[in-house]
Amino acid sequence: MEKNFNGIEPFEKKIWLSSPTMHGEELDYIKEAFDTNWLSTVGKNINECERMVAEYVGCKYAVALSAGTAALHLCVKLAGEKIYGMAKPNEGTLRGHKVFCSDMTFDATVNPVAYEDGEAVFIDTERDTWNMDPVALEKAFEIYPEVKLVVIAHLYGTPGKIDEIRAICDKHGALIIEDAAESLGATYKGVQTGNFGNYNAISFNGNKIITGSSGGMFLTDSREDCDKARKWSTQSREDAPWYQHEEVGYNYRMSNIIAGIVRGQMLHLDEHIAQKKAIYERYKEGLKGLPVTMNPYDEEKSEPNFWLSCMLIDKDAMCRQVRGERDVLYISEEGKSCPTEILEAISKFNAEGRPIWKPMHMQPIYRNSPFVTAKGNGRAVTNAYIDEGEALDVGMDIFERGLCLPSDNKMTPDQQDVIIEIIRRCFDK
Ligand SMILES: *Cc1c(COP(=O)(O)O)cnc(C)c1O
Repeated sequence: MEKNFNGIEPFEKKIWLSSPTMHGEELDYIKEAFDTNWLSTVGKNINECERMVAEYVGCKYAVALSAGTAALHLCVKLAGEKIYGMAKPNEGTLRGHKVFCSDMTFDATVNPVAYEDGEAVFIDTERDTWNMDPVALEKAFEIYPEVKLVVIAHLYGTPGKIDEIRAICDKHGALIIEDAAESLGATYKGVQTGNFGNYNAISFNGNKIITGSSGGMFLTDSREDCDKARKWSTQSREDAPWYQHEEVGYNYRMSNIIAGIVRGQMLHLDEHIAQKKAIYERYKEGLKGLPVTMNPYDEEKSEPNFWLSCMLIDKDAMCRQVRGERDVLYISEEGKSCPTEILEAISKFNAEGRPIWKPMHMQPIYRNSPFVTAKGNGRAVTNAYIDEGEALDVGMDIFERGLCLPSDNKMTPDQQDVIIEIIRRCFDK
């Protein structure tokens, strides 16, 4: 069945999922770097953006790095060394040890575990915030009581169940790495994300809530960890007249140019969050009456940064959709739709949406890694569970029925109304 989009005009300029929003101060700070010839990985922009982020997040130290992934790598390395001791230059600090990881996240959350020779065990997702399920985490500790490290992400800028996860980790003597790459500016019980892990990371990638064009930061209250991260990120140079090295090093430091962009963007973080929240609320209002819900959050405990607005289609309003490894087919039906149909429709009118991040346990690279669900240690085939009426594997169920909506700051209310209308037409009878 062809859905009817008569009367809707394509957008002249593409509406992006989430693209950089620049303001002008960024250029001033870049120019300052040029004018003073501080163009490398030292300079005022770096010092200032570290200071601004630490102050904003409310942590003692911030280390500016080339990417959020680099920050996560240093988090993993610090944790690995703390738990298992210093590794030889040719082995990872996790050397075969298991690490519990968020399952529905971007793969940069978990790749650093592999860099350090650790084995990720994926923990299924809960439905209240779309983050790591504490019930599944507790199950995982029953199965693997020896695990001492947990990596959690706050998906799409929505804080997860931090209290519950912290309590479980404390009980089992495990450390937490907090991947706040998507959630800069989001709070949980009034405290900024990026404070809850023993090691914390944020990102300034081009599509994040603010951007340096690239870049990331390691956040901590520990002077010692801050110094180590700083040292490792600049090739582990020792204090000597020549290049002296006692540990493996990395070239992970942020450049003073990138830092200038971050410095300018920090002035607009709150404004971006307000815009993203308005977009979320407008979708919520505009999609009322349709068999869909928005990505949920704990309204009592948390205030997301609303980085991406997402939508979940009710089970009984899903038309048939079958995803292979790299392609997808669906059968259009009256009164029903699916993420693929909606994404295609949005794209036809020159706007960008995206499927929900495909869970890690279903990624070919991690398919043989253990995966723990709230109901036990399972591996699910998504369609089968939806047909039975109950999904055992929450992550794949959300992947199957959910999608990320165009969430760009620069989208106008009128443009967003058109996107809402396109989605409405997808469910037409
Ligand atoms: C973007 C992102 C990262 C990685 O950040 P980069 O700066 O792109 O390296 C890590 N984790 C999550 C959840 C992300 O969305």
